[in-house]
Amino acid sequence: MKILVAVKRVLDYNVKARVKADKSGIELANVKMSMNPFDEIAVEEALRIKEAGHAEEVVVVSMGPAQSQETIRTALAMGADRGVLIESDEELQPLVVAKLLQHVVEKEAPQILIVGKQAIDDDCNQTGQMFSALSGWPQATFASKVEFDGDALKVTREVDAGLESIKVNLPAVITTDLRLNEPRYAKLPNIMKAKKKPLETIAIADTGVTTTTGLKTLEVNEPESRQAGVIVGSVEELFDKLKNEAKVI
Ligand code: AMP
Repeated sequence: MKILVAVKRVLDYNVKARVKADKSGIELANVKMSMNPFDEIAVEEALRIKEAGHAEEVVVVSMGPAQSQETIRTALAMGADRGVLIESDEELQPLVVAKLLQHVVEKEAPQILIVGKQAIDDDCNQTGQMFSALSGWPQATFASKVEFDGDALKVTREVDAGLESIKVNLPAVITTDLRLNEPRYAKLPNIMKAKKKPLETIAIADTGVTTTTGLKTLEVNEPESRQAGVIVGSVEELFDKLKNEAKVI
């Protein structure tokens, strides 16, 4: 069995995002970019499934600019077998990514697709669900535990009321939640080995998927800066301010 994992190159989560002067988006030139943290969890889960003997191959796929090769190489250094880059310099919306994943799935025929629950740059939380709708595959979203149950998967999901267990038949798509696992670090010898692992690049034009959707980013703005706080002298003064100034009690 083959597992396909989607990995997105995003602004590193430690970097403070700065809005471009023309408000068209976030400044990405000369800033540290990394694999989306939920996708690291997705790669780790695929590797654990393979190491447990349930899969033979882990293939990673990324859609984006040529530099996304670095993100794929990171996944290969963690232990994935092969990479596929669908190259595009355009901003790709989740619906387009879901269609591109469908294109790769038709070619690769994996039994499991694992994606992050959300990309930390667009916070969409849509790609896995859209892929499920397009392909008809069952979806197990926000997974915090994945177990094999015969030919199916038993997936524990984090929901508001607690933990929900569901069974999904394969092929299926899983989206990873934070507590699913703790991703491994790539060791230096594996980083060297990853440079020799196969990485196929496909031009987005050759996939037949159109990149236009009904959605356009109009403007991106910095959050409003917060006003300075005040230190109150007593509990009575705090209550007075909450009641008469903030009017929250
Ligand atoms: P989103 O729906 O944009 O929040 O993204 C959810 C997940 O879909 C991410 O964690 C990735 O696993 C996958 N994904 C989204 N965009 C891309 C991309 N450009 N390349 C590879 N995977 C992606």
